[in-house]
Amino acid sequence: MPIDVRQFPCFADNYGFLVRDEATGVVASIDTPEPEKIEAALAAAGWRLDLILNTHHHWDHAGGNLALKEKWGARVIGPAGEADKIPGLDEAVGEGEVVQVGASSATVFDTPGHTAGHIAYHFAEDGVAFVGDTLFALGCGRLFEGAPAEMWASLKKLAALPDETVVYCAHEYTEANARFALSLGEENPALAARAAHIFELRATGEPTVPTTIGAERAANPFLRAAEASLAAALGLDGATPVEVFAETRRLKDAF
Ligand code: ZN
Ligand code: FE
Repeated sequence: MPIDVRQFPCFADNYGFLVRDEATGVVASIDTPEPEKIEAALAAAGWRLDLILNTHHHWDHAGGNLALKEKWGARVIGPAGEADKIPGLDEAVGEGEVVQVGASSATVFDTPGHTAGHIAYHFAEDGVAFVGDTLFALGCGRLFEGAPAEMWASLKKLAALPDETVVYCAHEYTEANARFALSLGEENPALAARAAHIFELRATGEPTVPTTIGAERAANPFLRAAEASLAAALGLDGATPVEVFAETRRLKDAF
């Protein structure tokens, strides 16, 4: 069954997302960054809110849970690995579990690294993934609660989805990510072309989200830690992908 996705900016650089199952009219909010903006998006679409699907516990992702739950009686579904930190949680889910949004379903992936219990939601039939703060366009989340090996494993899991998978990331960080990716000096025409397009979009305030798995595999340095060309650019010939990933993340934190 097809889903209808609405994306809207929240706070300075977050995105909010509403997902409506077209067969049943059931609506889910992916995370709850800014309740006022979520209410406005619901009103604009003429939708009511049934479900909240949280990716992780950070305030800009779960901070609106209680207000929206109180207003709509929405059921809150979130990561089992950090269930104690999700306000209003009704159902904890983890790797391989399936979440129903009406007649549509999303498979849950554990994607630890940014936070210890972070999860992503993959609507396989629709070719759509909501990845929270794990994967960004040309970037990845900071490692607040995880080691590089964990985040690399999480990113590999997402990278294994079909190339055409549409990826909804929770922040508009892409322009800064593009500048960082270019600074690494990897010989990569796909990145050069992508960065040029991103600078164009951002110059007029256009969103760069969603992206696709294929576009990210081609240009996102954090998905390219197993590529010899990235290792070479970092002076890490022969290093393991986890070592290359860790160094890339370290450089980004200092960029
Ligand atoms: Zn976060
Ligand atoms: Fe965030």
